[in-house]
Amino acid sequence: MAAKSAHQADPDSLREGYLARIEAATDTAASRTNHSAWVQKHTTLQGDPFNFKHHEMQIDIFDDPASRIAVRKCSQVGLSELQVRKLLTISAVMRYVRVIYTLPTRQFAMRFAKDRVDTTIEQAPMISGMLKRGSDSAEQKVFTNGNVLYVTGTYGDNSAISVPATYIVNDELDFSNQEVVSKMSSRLRHAEENEDGYRGFHYKFSTPTLPGFGVTKEFEKGDQKYYACRCSRCNHDNIPGWYTHFTVPGYDGDMREFDAQTATPLIDSDKHLEAYIRCSKCGKNLWEDLINPARRRWVAKYPDRKYSSYQVSPWDVPHYNKPSEIVLQMKDYTRHMDFMNFVVGLDYQDSDSVFSLEPFNDSNDTKFVSPDKVEGNLSLGDHRLCAGMDVGKVCHFMVGYPTETGMKVVYAEEIKHTAQTPGKQRLFKLLKMFNIQYFVMDSGPDITLVRDALEFCKMDGIRAFASEYVRTVGLENFQPNPETQIVKVNRTETLTQLMKSHNTRNIQYPAQGTHPVMYTVRNQVTALKKIVREVDSGEMLEQFVKTGPDHFGHTMNYLNIAVQMASGGLSMSSVVGANPMVKRIKMRGGSSRDTQRRIYRESYV
Ligand SMILES: [Zn+2]
Repeated sequence: MAAKSAHQADPDSLREGYLARIEAATDTAASRTNHSAWVQKHTTLQGDPFNFKHHEMQIDIFDDPASRIAVRKCSQVGLSELQVRKLLTISAVMRYVRVIYTLPTRQFAMRFAKDRVDTTIEQAPMISGMLKRGSDSAEQKVFTNGNVLYVTGTYGDNSAISVPATYIVNDELDFSNQEVVSKMSSRLRHAEENEDGYRGFHYKFSTPTLPGFGVTKEFEKGDQKYYACRCSRCNHDNIPGWYTHFTVPGYDGDMREFDAQTATPLIDSDKHLEAYIRCSKCGKNLWEDLINPARRRWVAKYPDRKYSSYQVSPWDVPHYNKPSEIVLQMKDYTRHMDFMNFVVGLDYQDSDSVFSLEPFNDSNDTKFVSPDKVEGNLSLGDHRLCAGMDVGKVCHFMVGYPTETGMKVVYAEEIKHTAQTPGKQRLFKLLKMFNIQYFVMDSGPDITLVRDALEFCKMDGIRAFASEYVRTVGLENFQPNPETQIVKVNRTETLTQLMKSHNTRNIQYPAQGTHPVMYTVRNQVTALKKIVREVDSGEMLEQFVKTGPDHFGHTMNYLNIAVQMASGGLSMSSVVGANPMVKRIKMRGGSSRDTQRRIYRESYV
């Protein structure tokens, strides 16, 4: 008690920090497994002690001692803020801890550090008293006990992610650089081994995007906890779901077909106000039970798994997400996928985000040029043949030519390329056999092969370019420089254009079954998918990701660029720099909320 009053009376920061540490130390053992109690005692929110009121579901996530946690969540449930509080708590009270908190890009990370981390610190005098003055910055908070919290992006300059760490948190996982995230686990190698056999702590959070991707993949690896609700009429334990429990009077159909179009007339006649979540056993409106924390608890589908994972749905924070409000939000989203991802918190895939299968399956054209027959003259008429190649231990090579509306693919091959069997000779042979006029390929990873191929093409009169994926290339999708033989390619823009061209049947393929490689082409092209995300500031991010090997997808993108060059779309304007990386795009119509949003398209290298 004496220490407490001295603490309050003496504003001297060193003394305050010292006393805070003593106070904290006595709580440390408890705080390891009971962070929620600690954070309520030591941090504030808008002047009042922090509490979990109306967010009770967060307590178990907050106190979860598991070393690996994945949370798949709808937006606006306050979990990022909670994580920051938890990590600051850990940094303040534990010994020898390094925390790395990542967001998709450095820009995000900086904004997040300012808006969330700094604000939380301001609201927690005890934590701010433990910050080492003068050595803190947006990216890095150094504590007087030597602990450091880094906030950084997974794209761009991210040197902080190469330091050894005790805690790693990947926020907005689906939009983060998946390769960087998967390599980050190795940063935990030096951390202590926990009871569950893992080293250090790795948490992943995100609003979901596509099935089988990002946080959905992580969630499915885990024990899959849902926030169950016990019905007060029949005692049935419900796991409330959009498809299984959500009810909109006036709509009798399958919730899988319930979209903005179906919802609009119901909203217009105020029917949405009657929407509710029903008990799947007795049919009761569960509202009173949803808002009663005593009737709710986390239930794991696979309780034996060590990897802890959570599904956070809007009705798990019911005070802020009434069923009527959930329906009402449908009108705000132009794409149903966005509604399902952001508002409902479930993975979803729509036709705008994938290369559809039909264009592959529908072709009856059997004119696939068999690789064994690539000898002598190929009679492909007067077409201006083009090629694309993705370089790797297997080089993926494709040939096609321009058509009136797009292109026609005639050939594909996987060229083995190892130290024992270099692919160079085979590549040169193919380029000659097909009498290729335009050739676009990777600029790595095997620089020697790229250089040799460019040199070969130069000698042979083939217009060849090594592609560099860049963020933004002025106003064009790609910009070739014949002098340097480099084409700067806007990854997102060109892939978007390729997907559109494919889905509108402007790309023709040889029939499936003409050659086994066409199945590989189909599988790898369709593994490339597009995700779109609205971030805090209202900006939209668009990005291509892969759900499996995607080499032929990129090969076809290179081919499509070569074909556009051949068909006269080639602009030889001077190559411009890669800034700015975020550009404003035109909205494709949409609701009033959409038009109010500032919408950007950002693409990544
Ligand atoms: Zn019931």
